[in-house]
Amino acid sequence: MSSDDADVIVVGGGAIGLASAWEVARRGRSVTVLERFDTGHDRASSAGLERQWRIQYSEERWSRLALETLPLWHALESAADRRLVHATGSLWFGRVGLATSEGELRAAGAVLERLGVPYEWLSAPEIESRFGFARLPADHEGFHQRDGGVIDVKGTIGALSRLCALTGVRIRGRERVRAVEPDGDGVTVRTDDGVHRAGAVIVNAGAFADEVLAPLGCPLNPRVFRMSSAYFARRTAEMDLPTWYAFLEPEDGVGNGSFYGFGHNPWTGSGLVRAASDAERPVEEDDPAAPRLPHGGDLATTAAWVRDHIPGLVPRGIRAGTCLASLPADSGRQFHLGTLPATVPHGERVVVQSAGWAFKFVPMFGRICADLALDGHSAHHHPASALT
Ligand SMILES: Cc1cc2nc3c(=O)[nH]c(=O)nc-3n(C[C@H](O)[C@H](O)[C@H](O)COP(=O)(O)OP(=O)(O)OC[C@H]3O[C@@H](n4cnc5c(N)ncnc54)[C@H](O)[C@@H]3O)c2cc1C
Repeated sequence: MSSDDADVIVVGGGAIGLASAWEVARRGRSVTVLERFDTGHDRASSAGLERQWRIQYSEERWSRLALETLPLWHALESAADRRLVHATGSLWFGRVGLATSEGELRAAGAVLERLGVPYEWLSAPEIESRFGFARLPADHEGFHQRDGGVIDVKGTIGALSRLCALTGVRIRGRERVRAVEPDGDGVTVRTDDGVHRAGAVIVNAGAFADEVLAPLGCPLNPRVFRMSSAYFARRTAEMDLPTWYAFLEPEDGVGNGSFYGFGHNPWTGSGLVRAASDAERPVEEDDPAAPRLPHGGDLATTAAWVRDHIPGLVPRGIRAGTCLASLPADSGRQFHLGTLPATVPHGERVVVQSAGWAFKFVPMFGRICADLALDGHSAHHHPASALT
């Protein structure tokens, strides 16, 4: 074993890559993270300030996994001595029966009911009077789930980076992985700077996973797209919102017409609140990580929706941003998570997590990736998210 070798190499230093590395290191094994840029950069998916924390899913297994993940968030918070998940409540409303990449209202409510998770079903007038929305169509409905809320993205990445440093994880920034080659003894990882060896590799490269999976003959072909959002000022300091998602049909009948947003986040003190259109914009550059401006049309649509339906906000977006997202091509699948298929020789040495609305599962997916890399199985791993 040379000084560059490790028990496990993690490709990608986003939130999930750092969580995987910390999990491996906590178990006393050596681990190196290879990150194409520097950790904490904003060119991939773990960008921006907030992510939604929610228990509701249209499929019970993901709600169960969210419930199992919450204690892992609390463990991470206590190890890092910082609150990361803020239970500001989660409000879902809009057109019942509309299927979106988030799920569907009635089915998600039914899952909460079955699991005994408290929630309140609300009419449009109730949503307006309790949460400050206005002019909602009379047939809109929804629910409030009090334990949902918002996750502190930068806080999570900072916490995991510190914990990785404390547990001896080597993080090599600005080192792009070009190939991952499993064999009978381990895995060779080729980068722009050299060659590394490890017993197993965890690919947490997010939307870029196919860069190393396609040469192995098992591309995931995810849908990769950009989303744009902006911050809005509140008219009064008392005005606030839960984390919310509005299930709406697109006005032009094309794409996703939904919007989502947050209350003012409790950790920056800026008082601004973020809102966004759930529109998916194609990535046209050869390199999806190329810097890109937010989509002007989506920012304008969001500002118009805020003007019409959230009177407590000044409907002029400030501090706009854009973020790279990826979802499995099969809309019936929430994530990709597992080892390479049996068709790839020694593919059991390569673990992959990619695509999906996965920030809420950061500590859980880190644990599952470490389980699969070190033990070959995980008690938390559901076959429905497997690679094949
Ligand atoms: C606008 C938006 C809103 C979202 N909202 C939510 C939400 O409300 N709730 C939720 O749960 N999730 C949400 N998500 C999804 C969530 O942000 C992602 O699932 C999560 O950040 C993925 O983390 P990751 O570490 O897997 O990927 P990334 O953060 O993309 O990290 C991958 C890393 O791998 C590196 N990399 C890639 N290729 C290579 C290579 N060849 N060599 C070396 N390094 C490489 C990249 O530079 C990057 O740092 C949202 C995403 C977006 C974009």
